[in-house]
Amino acid sequence: MSTQNKRLMRPLRRASETTMRTRVGLIGDPVAHSFSPRLQQAAFDALGIPARYELWQTPAAQLLERVRSLCERDYLGANVTIPHKQAVLHLLDRIDPLAERIGAVNTIVHHDDYLHGYNTDAPGLLYALQEHGIGRLRQNNQVSLKGYSALLLGAGGAARGAAFALTSAGVDRLIIFNRHLERAQLLATDVQQNYDGPVFSLNDANFLIPHSSSIIINATSVGMHEDVSPLPPEVLARFDSDTFVYDMIYNPTQTYLLCQARIMGLRNANGLSMLLHQGALAFTHWTGEPAPLDIMRATLL
Ligand code: NAP
Repeated sequence: MSTQNKRLMRPLRRASETTMRTRVGLIGDPVAHSFSPRLQQAAFDALGIPARYELWQTPAAQLLERVRSLCERDYLGANVTIPHKQAVLHLLDRIDPLAERIGAVNTIVHHDDYLHGYNTDAPGLLYALQEHGIGRLRQNNQVSLKGYSALLLGAGGAARGAAFALTSAGVDRLIIFNRHLERAQLLATDVQQNYDGPVFSLNDANFLIPHSSSIIINATSVGMHEDVSPLPPEVLARFDSDTFVYDMIYNPTQTYLLCQARIMGLRNANGLSMLLHQGALAFTHWTGEPAPLDIMRATLL
């Protein structure tokens, strides 16, 4: 059992309830690009849980109806992705304190006729960074990012999880860069309620001041559908050679941002590692079982 699942496993599910509920899926728009079905299905099959993971393409106008359907007897829960992570929070019965603080939900559990909302993006990102050699595991099994500066691209649902994860891990400073400045400013204000370090928000990349030991995280959807980068290459080129670039996008596996990082000799990784860890945590929320991490990882190779 991985350390992460030992820590986060909660006796939420009863065995009879889990076997009765066989439908689980991804709510989002778009969803076709997602690797979650292969990741989660392999885990259910490995544990002999007769659940089927489905893709539920859900435009904003159908979100309420889709979430309501999760209350039916045979639904185990759902993952939530772009662009619904914030909107869905208000449609659930109970919100886990971490998801409440973040203001975004990516995992819904149907339990005892209630819909519970969780955020596994935040811890999933920290586990992923740690796998790439970024951060140290403290004695309490939490990841420390002391000594790093974080540049977060985006201020949507995934970025909110990242901002709270990075600051709770103790980054020296957080810079939020987003197309709509107000959204970055709102996130900065929210994060500062629990974080003493400096938080900056901006929407003009020319004003970015590079710091040494930077972690640049793309939490926008820019690069998913076309060869564009959320950060102009000439700005990326100003960062030190010890910068680590992480793109939450994993399909395509090589985004324009990651190609630029590689050309500049910067360490970089795509979002597969985060997909794995947030997915493993979601699996444990649905089933109460430790996720078979190695089996899930193998589906992403
Ligand atoms: P979201 O809530 O819809 O947020 C989208 C973000 O992208 C916002 O910051 C938005 O900026 C920005 N954006 C969208 N189009 C843009 C454009 N043309 N130019 C500049 N900025 C643009 O979506 P999300 O749920 O946070 O997901 C964001 C990305 O993270 C997606 O690609 C998703 O697949 C990925 N993700 C991956 C994982 C993983 O496990 N690897 C987990 C979570 C998310 P504005 O605020 O200005 O609109």
